[in-house]
Amino acid sequence: MELGVLLWMVLTLMGSTTAQHDQYSGAVDWLSRYGYLPRPDPRTSKLLTKEGIENAIRVMQRFGGVQETGVLDSATLKLMSTPRCSLPDIIGSEDMMKRRRRRKRYALSGLKWHKTDLTWSVHSYPSPSTSPGLHNNLVDNILTYAFKAWSNAAPLRFNQVARGSRAEGDIRVSFSQLLHNDGYPFDGRGGTLAHAFFPFTGDLAGDTHFDDDEVWSYGGGSSSTDLFTVAVHEFGHALGLSHSSSDPSIMRPYYQGPVGDIINFELALDDRLAIQQLYGVKDDNQ
Ligand SMILES: [Zn+2]
Ligand SMILES: [Zn+2]
Repeated sequence: MELGVLLWMVLTLMGSTTAQHDQYSGAVDWLSRYGYLPRPDPRTSKLLTKEGIENAIRVMQRFGGVQETGVLDSATLKLMSTPRCSLPDIIGSEDMMKRRRRRKRYALSGLKWHKTDLTWSVHSYPSPSTSPGLHNNLVDNILTYAFKAWSNAAPLRFNQVARGSRAEGDIRVSFSQLLHNDGYPFDGRGGTLAHAFFPFTGDLAGDTHFDDDEVWSYGGGSSSTDLFTVAVHEFGHALGLSHSSSDPSIMRPYYQGPVGDIINFELALDDRLAIQQLYGVKDDNQ
């Protein structure tokens, strides 16, 4: 074999090893960001074992509804690169094995509002240059229907604070880019789409932020992201719901495309059970 060919082979092999290593450390980073692995702690420099990472991959695969292989196969990598909510899937010290065995699919944050009449306000709207066609009235309408999805299932009432008034709602909605003063920066187009804060988590409780680098739309056509679908999901968090592995569920962490007709949209059973567990069942006279 010629030296040149040999050298080329060695370099190619080295290249793929580096790429694999990058892919692996990227995946470890992803797994800890979304709660499947403990966050790296510089004080203890706790090493992650190979088994620990494999197990985390399995839990992630099960949660995401792909085959449980424990390795970074193409379906897993595809899921990891799917745009999603930036909240973690596994929260706190919840034991992952327990989570794997649990039959009930929806998850609650353990926090809820202690009132059923809630107000909301919008503090910034999508940039017209990035999301053309989403004028402010349309955004208000979409958000109104997203709240309605939840108030149709549980005895909750949502009222928008008049636009332009100085009052702030319980749930404050904004569209922001990158760093936006809450310690949870967005990441440009794709990747994370939005996040919301659970009730009773301090000043930011209930607040719902959308990444303004996304192309938001009504209906989600031509590689844009459907605002209604993501808003229903985020308001679920603002009301106290965590991510669900159930399918169908609006509380799945990955963006799954537009849910369709916003006026007649109904939550899936799992989501209805979750919100009713927190706030009770709506009776038809309410
Ligand atoms: Zn979420
Ligand atoms: Zn934020």
